[in-house]
Amino acid sequence: MEQKIEAQNFLRQIVEKDIKNNTYGGRVVTRFPPEPNGYLHIGHAKSICLNFGLAADYKGQCHLRFDDTNPETEDVEYVESIKADVKWLGFDWNDHLFYASDYFQQLYDWAVYLIKNNKAYVDSLNEEQVKEYRGDFNRPGKDSPYRDRSVEENLDLFERMKNGEFSEGQHTLRAKIDMQSPNINMRDPLLYRIKKMKHHNTGDKWNIYPMYDYAHPLSDAIEKITHSICTLEFQDHRPFYDWCVDNVPVPAKPRQYEFARLNMTYLVMSKRKLLQLVKEKLVSGWDDPRMPTISGIRRRGYTPEAMRNFAKRIGVAKAESLIDVEILEDCVKEDLDRVAYRAMVVLDPIKVTITNYEANKTEELNVSSHPKNEAYGKRKVYFSNEVFIERADFMENPDADFFRLAPGKEVRLRNAYVIRCEEVLKDPAGRVIELKCVYDPVTLGGKPTAEGKKVKGIIHWVSGKHSISAEIRLYGRLFKVPDPENVPAGQDFKANLNPNSLTVIKTAKLEHSLSEADVARKYQFERTGYFCIDSKDSQPGALVFNRIVEL
Ligand code: ATP
Ligand code: MG
Repeated sequence: MEQKIEAQNFLRQIVEKDIKNNTYGGRVVTRFPPEPNGYLHIGHAKSICLNFGLAADYKGQCHLRFDDTNPETEDVEYVESIKADVKWLGFDWNDHLFYASDYFQQLYDWAVYLIKNNKAYVDSLNEEQVKEYRGDFNRPGKDSPYRDRSVEENLDLFERMKNGEFSEGQHTLRAKIDMQSPNINMRDPLLYRIKKMKHHNTGDKWNIYPMYDYAHPLSDAIEKITHSICTLEFQDHRPFYDWCVDNVPVPAKPRQYEFARLNMTYLVMSKRKLLQLVKEKLVSGWDDPRMPTISGIRRRGYTPEAMRNFAKRIGVAKAESLIDVEILEDCVKEDLDRVAYRAMVVLDPIKVTITNYEANKTEELNVSSHPKNEAYGKRKVYFSNEVFIERADFMENPDADFFRLAPGKEVRLRNAYVIRCEEVLKDPAGRVIELKCVYDPVTLGGKPTAEGKKVKGIIHWVSGKHSISAEIRLYGRLFKVPDPENVPAGQDFKANLNPNSLTVIKTAKLEHSLSEADVARKYQFERTGYFCIDSKDSQPGALVFNRIVEL
């Protein structure tokens, strides 16, 4: 426990120390820097909560910056979805919305500055040769034969690269650092490559694009970020981050800090892999309610409050860990219990005819919409001589511990009467199709039976005459194993997809009040789970509900 609190606070401790020491004049400026090459996932949500949360708690500002340096994979569709996701999570970048591509000219000028200071050169090795010359963990690199080009030649070639005189792959711009460095990231890392590609923001203006590792620290510096927080895999890139801000005349020197990325059981947290699922149509899209994307969980019915609580609960640590997906589901359940409107829905119905209830009579029962919150008001629930109950709430030959309906036994219909089963009707195949029951009129409002008996079992039900239909979608886990990315060589994570992750139910009977279900509301279908209207596929008269999570 101790350690968890300590771990949760390591970034806060750094920020507090910097405030105390007046390191940045008391300023706290963080940023969330997505590359617009896919939809955000739950891992990004952790980073958003961390960066925006720190800024909010220390009266600072968090920037939303698109790190859009690779036109090949980027798209405005992603830009828009990312903005919507950050807003949905409840955060606001105010007017601090930036694009690394807005700094392309500045980054180019600084590359020229580096060349003039003999700290960058145009290399003409091809990709394969670059790799070969770089060496590896056990083998030092060796200098490119182009490393000693004169400043004049470098300036000339770099300008011509920019002007589009060369083809892709013909030249690159590299930092001149140390090919013998034990840190491979310092072996003359790439600064620019030629890409004759249209960019979603700058159009056809550029024929060369900066590398992420060069653009990122300098964008941070331009925006005077104080604490540049990223995931652990960038730890080995930090020396180059520092090299950039130390060797370029930047207006501010931000520092990079790393935390462990979020990994969760039964989920895949990589845009590249999620994109595969979308492209290969293994899911219905980025916002498929089974996807661990923010748009997926939003459509599924998870709430931003639950997501933020989850981020708080798991904290921020420096050591990699695997978080159980049930922790997130618990946060969702906790929040939904608080906010969900109650309703009764029978998913797998059997008809019950109440033989001693007048055939043409309807009673309107006023029932609370939330057991603990009167502000949710009441709803009308209809009772009549024909109701539906769940097939699983009836047993013809009940076990001793079965307290629901059985021949000759009594059960309470929630919010209504106690009924007793008198007769079981079956089809020729022996399947139960209808139950004939009698009701006890004195039992309304939870009262005991005429004989003074308290009935233990309480089940949900829906009046047949007043029920509505809807499509109900139940979701299982998208992957069938806790660690779907862990596959033997030659196999694919997609082999771990759960073939039964979606069950569609069309037979359900829903209480009448749900005909006016609100897409903005969450519902608890009593005893069956939390549900919401599917924001994409549901239509008036053809409602579709998603099960958000089981109870
Ligand atoms: P992916 O690996 O899914 O492609 P990414 O890291 O390439 O994600 P970016 O758009 O570069 O995605 O990430 C934006 C920010 O989100 C980065 O600061 C990154 O560190 C953070 N981030 C990405 N994945 C996670 C994760 N699983 N947990 C926490 N933060 C994450
Ligand atoms: Mg990335």
